[in-house]
Amino acid sequence: MRVLAIMCHPDDMELCCSGTLIKYKKLGHEVIVCHAANGNMGHVLIMPDELKEIRRNEVQKAAALAGFEVISADIGDLTINSANEEQLKKIIRVIRYARPDVIITHYPEDYCSDHNELSKLVFKASFDASCPHFMPELGKATDVTPIYYADTDMGMKFVPTEYVDITEEMNLKEEMLACHKSQVVWLKDHDGIDAIEMQRILAAERGGQCGVKYAEAFLPLIASQRMRTYRVLP
Ligand SMILES: [Zn+2]
Repeated sequence: MRVLAIMCHPDDMELCCSGTLIKYKKLGHEVIVCHAANGNMGHVLIMPDELKEIRRNEVQKAAALAGFEVISADIGDLTINSANEEQLKKIIRVIRYARPDVIITHYPEDYCSDHNELSKLVFKASFDASCPHFMPELGKATDVTPIYYADTDMGMKFVPTEYVDITEEMNLKEEMLACHKSQVVWLKDHDGIDAIEMQRILAAERGGQCGVKYAEAFLPLIASQRMRTYRVLP
């Protein structure tokens, strides 16, 4: 299978679904990760242009640990907008390039507008990408792809129906998250928030719900043409 995760900011993939992606990879599937936003607003002291480069390096380092291909749509933080045609084109181009059998993205009712807008953008782009005469310059049309929504920040308002056991993938997930030094160190020193500990608590809670030590949780997009007769998640 070809698996495409389209997540928003440079550390969202690690927080929300990296355990599942590592598992896909171990099973021999192709994993491509697209970061829609470039993370340029994610710090108080480091200026946006410099931060964007730092975060690009952090992303590469984390993805290399798991062998994922990474793409950035390079949209500025806080400007993700599902009605923006340029952004739609960027996401269609990514989908037609990746030709995925499954797309993982944010749930449309997460904690920040960037995540919610990206979710809507992916929903639209993934249907539009299947129409051969729609923007043919962006690549060859794909199938309509199943979409799985990843857990929200700290699991708020998210009642999952699908779980992936990530107990064996947990160490690598945490190593990947630790690559995002500009976020993890800053949050700890400045706000007293331990991002790695927080995601472990959520993974343990989701694990408790399905009888394993650590899990990531998902909701499928329920819509015609998006369903499959087999389990899509690993
Ligand atoms: Zn984010």
